[in-house]
Amino acid sequence: MSDCLFCRIVAGDIPATRIAETERAIAFMDIFPATPGHALVIPRAHADDALCATDEDLAACMQLASRVGRAALDGLGATGVTFQTVARPDGGQTVFHLHIHVIPRVAGDGFSAPWEPVAGDPAAIEDHAARLRGAL
Ligand code: 5GP
Ligand code: ZN
Repeated sequence: MSDCLFCRIVAGDIPATRIAETERAIAFMDIFPATPGHALVIPRAHADDALCATDEDLAACMQLASRVGRAALDGLGATGVTFQTVARPDGGQTVFHLHIHVIPRVAGDGFSAPWEPVAGDPAAIEDHAARLRGAL
């Protein structure tokens, strides 16, 4: 898609600091890093998000994200990694080409989960599970 920012990065029309490439996916640095070393993994083929990508591209992206995560441990001294992907505006997505964030983590880095864990109502959890099973 010519109007897609990340397709333009795949094509080389927009510069990006690439770190790894496979037949189906590429990894490059995020220009607004959440932590030092924050990278993005995307499929070469356009897919809006993880809800509509092919199984092959989802697998290829997660495999490359895992490699980049290991490199963050080995090369940057990270002691943890947060992998994140979001879908659609209400999911928090701002660039509408599937991407997996690979965010190197260390203790006390200030990066925090976006929710406070509060125990759910067991009946509601069962109800949501039943509705998800029905939709799967
Ligand atoms: P989202 O908010 O959709 O999960 O993530 C989009 C990510 O793309 C953000 O982390 C943002 O910093 C990154 N980003 C936006 N524009 C560019 C760009 O032109 N180049 C690179 N390398 N990253 C970008
Ligand atoms: Zn695209």
